[in-house]
This record gives sequence, structure tokens and C-alpha cells, in this order.
Amino acid sequence: MNELTSWVAVPADSDFPIQNLPFGIFSTSERTKRVGVAIGDQIVDLKALHMLGYLENLPFTLADFEAPVLNPMIARGKQATRELRNRLVKLLDASRPDLRDKEHHVGQILVPQSEAAMHLPVEIGDYTDFYSSEDHARNVGKMFRDPENALLPNWKHLPVGYHGRASSIVVSGTPLKRPHGQMRPDPAAPPTFGPSRLLDFELEMAFITYPGKPLGDPISMAEAEDYIFGLTLFNDWSARDIQAWEYVPLGPFLGKNFGSTMSPWVVTLDALEPYRIPGPDQVDPPVLPYLQVTSPGHFDVDLAVEIVPESGPGAVVCRSNLKHMYWNMAQQLTHHTVNGCNVRGGDVMASGTISGPEPGSFGSMLEISWRGSKPFAMPDGSERKFIQDGDTVRLTGCASAPGKPRIGFGSAEGLILPA
Ligand code: MN
Repeated sequence: MNELTSWVAVPADSDFPIQNLPFGIFSTSERTKRVGVAIGDQIVDLKALHMLGYLENLPFTLADFEAPVLNPMIARGKQATRELRNRLVKLLDASRPDLRDKEHHVGQILVPQSEAAMHLPVEIGDYTDFYSSEDHARNVGKMFRDPENALLPNWKHLPVGYHGRASSIVVSGTPLKRPHGQMRPDPAAPPTFGPSRLLDFELEMAFITYPGKPLGDPISMAEAEDYIFGLTLFNDWSARDIQAWEYVPLGPFLGKNFGSTMSPWVVTLDALEPYRIPGPDQVDPPVLPYLQVTSPGHFDVDLAVEIVPESGPGAVVCRSNLKHMYWNMAQQLTHHTVNGCNVRGGDVMASGTISGPEPGSFGSMLEISWRGSKPFAMPDGSERKFIQDGDTVRLTGCASAPGKPRIGFGSAEGLILPA
């Protein structure tokens, strides 16, 4: 088998073989924030690589790689970042001596991930959250509305979404305080104020955009993926009691915007290409022509959620997959811009909670505990209906299949501190 491998050692179970090469922002005690690419348990320092002359004849400047966010690099567009990624593959290929045999350069461009701090990868101008998993929408509809008509009439005609809060998106590893808020636990009594008692996670993935078209110009289905840079894991933390009281009639607000957690490594669509698959039939009802899928735009990515208590062992509470989406990313972006709404480089669009059809694949505690009626049994004997203080919630994701490279996303984790 003539499989592409790297001269950088990559452990067999690594999320980051040479076929992945996700982009992120890192720093160390000696290196300011800058652009890096993960391989194995190392980071390739693109600023150092550029300064040593390995990125010549590419449409980038040094400033693109010494920036504290990926936005300047992303602003160069899809063709440019694809050429950059192809160059990196060549430089890291085990069969090519160009960089491999230059020991004094290798020492300057490789940084152990254990010595680096990871940062939010992009400066996020706007954040949109969709609601695109049919199983999640059905579960919520069954719980709160009518089991016979769980989906609202618009759901299979357009990707429902809302504009979220960009300022409170944090990188994995950032602790969050349990939010205070207004809620009405007793529907017959006046509302109360205090710490949320129904704090939840939402298992999601998010895509990051290239700069889009000018205001007024829609992006079509055929063009949509040219405007999608890559994906991360995303936890849309949700305070269900605050959300339930406040959301009528304008939708999510303070029950959501106290924090969202994003994984630091952005996996490109090019890396995910081996895992592209067709989505569900969208014929009953048929979608309008502007949203019709003409080539497969779904991706097969296994996802998991683990709750790790302050002390004692953790437990996997959910195993799901990105393939369970009804609407794919191209449809989400196309719908988002069909009215002429413009997107900018570094905008974040999250999938919505990704639940599968089986109970073990539900992507929120709301569904796992079915609104608190079915507590989840933890290994230490405790129960979880929702998230407790001291719990760390860890999202992981990985595309893998026999004979294909493992394309992982690392993790998006967050510790919940007392209110
Ligand atoms: Mn959400």
C-alpha cells in the first residue's frame, strides 16, 4: 500500500495525521499567538515556516501567519488556503527530503502541543445557530408541543435558525459560570430570579466562512462550499429554565448567550472529502429549487459527549454523527444569504443539536433525561438530569473508516463553575 505518511511521528490513534492538517491559533512562552497546523502531537508554526522560505510563491504574506486569529489567512479565499494545504502536505510527506532532512529548520518549525496554549481560532463577527437535526427537532416538539405533529410546518421547507451572540464564544478549556437568570419553575406562580437549575449542553458542529459576497448578492447551492473554510466542534450551552420562560415570541436569548464552547482546530472540507456522503431524501415535501441538493453535501463524522464530574470517572452520555443532519451546510449557507444577507470571513454557523434516531444518540441532556424524567446513571452512583457544578462536558469528533485516514477534531470541553 502506497499510503501517504509524514516524517513527523504520528501515533496510530492521533486525530491529526498528514491527511488532516487542521488550522488553529497557538502560543507558547516564547512564541506570540500565530497560525499553526496540527500533525500528530506537534504543531507546525506557519510563521516560522514562512520566515524560513518554505511558503514562497503562495498568495500569503508573513502578516497572515503572525496574526492572532485565522481571519487574514482565511480572507485569501478557498483556492489560496487549498494551495497552502497542498504545500504543507508536500513539506511533511515522509518521501520528500525538502524539510525532512533540514534538522536545524525542523527544530524551529515544530512545537509540541503539550507546550502550547490554544486560542479561539477566529475573530467572530457574527454567529448563527441552526436547528437542522430532524431527530432533535422531533424530540423537542414531542416534549413541549404535540407528539403527533412534532415538527412545525416550516421545518422541512427551510433550515430554521437564529442569530446568536458572537462575543461569548470561547475556546475549549475555558471554564464558564452557571448563569443567573429569570425563570418560572411554577407556571401558576410569578417568575423567580436565581442560578439556572436546568443547565444543559448541545452537541453541535460549526462551520467557519470565507468572506462572502457583497450585501444583496446571494450565494447559491452550487457556490456554497466555496465559502466554507472548515469545521469545529461546538457546544451551545443552554439554560433550559431561562430559555423556556424567555423565548416567546422572539426565540433564544439569555438562556444561550452566557457562553458557547468551540474546539481550537479547524478541519477543512478538503480533509473531510473522503467522508462525504449523500444526505436524506428531501422529497416529502420537496424542497424549493434554490435549496435542492445536486451533489452529496453531508459528512460522516462520529461524535461523542462525555460528562466528567469534579471527582470520579466520567461517562459517555451520547454517541451521534454529523450525518444525522437533515439540512447540510451548503443548504444552511444558501438559505442564510438568499435574501442578500452578507457573510464575512470568520463568521460561525452552528448546526443545531445533532441527535440521532436512537436514545443513546441524543445530543442534549434535555433529550437524554427526557426533560428530567429519565436520569442518567453515572459510574460514581450519582445521577444527571442536567449539568452540575464541577462537571466538565467534553465533545469529541472523528471521521474514520477501514482503509481511510482518521480525521479527528480534538475536543471542545468546558468546566461549569458555581454561579
Ligand atoms: Mn443550539
